[in-house]
Amino acid sequence: MQNENFKSAITFVRKFELSKRIAIMILIAYAFSVIMRLYWVFWAGGFPEFMWNNQLMINTNDGYAFAEGARDMIAGFHQPNDLSYFGSSLSTLTAYLAKILPFSFETIILYMSVFLSSLIVIPILLISSELKCIKAGFMGALVSSVANSYYNRTMAGYYDTDMLNLVFAMFILWAMIRIIVKNDKLCLLYITSFVMLYNWWYPSSFALNSTMVGIFLVYTLVFLRKHRLNYEAIILIIVALTNIPLYIQAAVILLLFAVFYFKNNLINLRILAIIGAIVFAIFVLKGGLNPIIFQLKFYIFRGVADSGGIKLHFYNVNQTIQESGIVPMKIFMERISSDIAVFIVAAVGYVILCFRHKEFLLSLPILGLGFIAFKAGLRFTIYSVPIMGLGFGYAIYFGVKMLKIPRDAGRVCMFFLTLAALYPAYAHIKEYKTSTVFYNREVEILNKLKSIASREDYVLAWWDYGYPIRYYADVKTLIDGGKHLGNDNFPISFALFKDQISSANMARMDVEYTERNFKEKIQDTLEEALKDYHYNDIDDLLLNLKLKDFAPPKPTRDVYYYLPDRMMSIFNVVLQFSNLDLKTGKNYDSPFFYQADIYEQDQYGINLGNGITLSNDLTSLRLGERSVNINTFYITSYDEHSKLSVSQTNIDSSAQFYVIFMKDYGRFLLLDKSVLNSTFIQLFVFERYDADLFEPVILSPVAKIYKLKR
Ligand code: MN
Repeated sequence: MQNENFKSAITFVRKFELSKRIAIMILIAYAFSVIMRLYWVFWAGGFPEFMWNNQLMINTNDGYAFAEGARDMIAGFHQPNDLSYFGSSLSTLTAYLAKILPFSFETIILYMSVFLSSLIVIPILLISSELKCIKAGFMGALVSSVANSYYNRTMAGYYDTDMLNLVFAMFILWAMIRIIVKNDKLCLLYITSFVMLYNWWYPSSFALNSTMVGIFLVYTLVFLRKHRLNYEAIILIIVALTNIPLYIQAAVILLLFAVFYFKNNLINLRILAIIGAIVFAIFVLKGGLNPIIFQLKFYIFRGVADSGGIKLHFYNVNQTIQESGIVPMKIFMERISSDIAVFIVAAVGYVILCFRHKEFLLSLPILGLGFIAFKAGLRFTIYSVPIMGLGFGYAIYFGVKMLKIPRDAGRVCMFFLTLAALYPAYAHIKEYKTSTVFYNREVEILNKLKSIASREDYVLAWWDYGYPIRYYADVKTLIDGGKHLGNDNFPISFALFKDQISSANMARMDVEYTERNFKEKIQDTLEEALKDYHYNDIDDLLLNLKLKDFAPPKPTRDVYYYLPDRMMSIFNVVLQFSNLDLKTGKNYDSPFFYQADIYEQDQYGINLGNGITLSNDLTSLRLGERSVNINTFYITSYDEHSKLSVSQTNIDSSAQFYVIFMKDYGRFLLLDKSVLNSTFIQLFVFERYDADLFEPVILSPVAKIYKLKR
């Protein structure tokens, strides 16, 4: 008896020592991850233009959607159809933190990613402790926490759901491994909590969660057929993934857990199988397999266009996004492990780890999701990071053990090899100098607009600026980072690219139809307008918008145009969305628009780059071999009262090219007539607005805001 007590006392002390060791390693790795992320704060803090409300602004566009949602949740209300992320997971957490923490809202959204993403070190170390290789986990945690792609998407100011996506996935993996290694029944609770949290936090995690539970089932059937805790876990995970009201879900989970935990003798494998079948049937009935069926349909039936109604062909936004495409191997490896050598060591370590501890095979879905980057784009690489990190740590740990290096020498080895593996990540962090989404001069303008416009008013702007505009000006927008399909973008592109009358008519029409769409659930602005205005041909409608006596819908609110200088560099892309034949989807010839911010004097004149040279007498252009006359040469400049003045020299009225020298910007623009007459160029570059249609509200060199008078 005494002996027994003594033994258990020793186990207790050992366990305590072990958890103390893990706790210390977690603290060190966590602190390391946090401190590395503060580098950006330190660097960016040197730029006053990155500051707003005495705090650095965030550096991810989508973050403003969550920030808007959190702001609205703190206020307790938002406007119908304002697309606010009110109630979304990240907004909810942020609003809650803002309530309990003594920091400003701006501070909270700047640092959340720093402190939450660094939690990744905990499940990594816990997994290594289950596999009895904490040293490997420690090295893996350090390397993973700062690996290129994980850093890029969780750095300070990267206010997005990425900050917890991998943390949850890794905790689920840990609980699965622990179930197998320790047969710890409490894991049933951990695993369901993490699956439910993950599902709430990031609904798209459904695919990863389902794959993980699928692999877990396969693993169980192959290696651990008699291990009933596995089946119990699978049943509970399926309940956690089933689309039923939260209170029913929680009740079912608690009930099943209580039975599994306390009354296990009541349930034999047959009854367990029956419970499993029922749970799975409900999962399927509630649409659990729909995502898979949807995918299959998509692959089988793609190419078959749906028919019926008037079909307009819009410009597909994917045509402008380059993310998907062939991923070079080198970049892929560097994003996952910061360096090719580290990646290769990690890959070897991963294989050894799976051989030595086959339960680590359960990490395959997470690892595999990272490899989807080859098909689906680089943003997926982060998923491979912690798995490969553990692989790296294990390779070193295993090598040191195999080579029988003495204890202290082994530690020195591990220390320096980890340091070497961390160096490329450190170099990347120092190199990766992202600027904030907006500069404070732009935010000042939006902040001013906030006091002018009402929350129900619309701001017409390109989608890149949608979320930040809504956050800073508290208005509605037509398109944003989440709403920018071809048909969403067409009216905005049209309003920026076409003449002022067409623009004003389209803007009013799109705003009023967008509000109507919300209430009446009609499909598309243009298709609906065709019916209402009794046109058969979309081109007739678009042509009629040019007429001043065209009657757009009655205004229900104000509309503002937000025209930022920064749109100049993407204007060529912006206008593509309306420069096409909607009946066939074929692009019209590209309008000519060229911007030169860098130029130099050479023997032929002013070299504007790309083989374009402006003659010294400013009357002609050399385009490669060809020399063409300039139609009109404009110079815009600000006088001492910060008022814009435009001078113009007419040269050759038959020539097709126009040149604008924006003196204070140090910039030349080359354009054809269609771009010259576009609303964006007329209103932003020249401030030549039709006073019947537009009224200037804020005219700053960085952005101009006009109010629509239609
Ligand atoms: Mn709102």
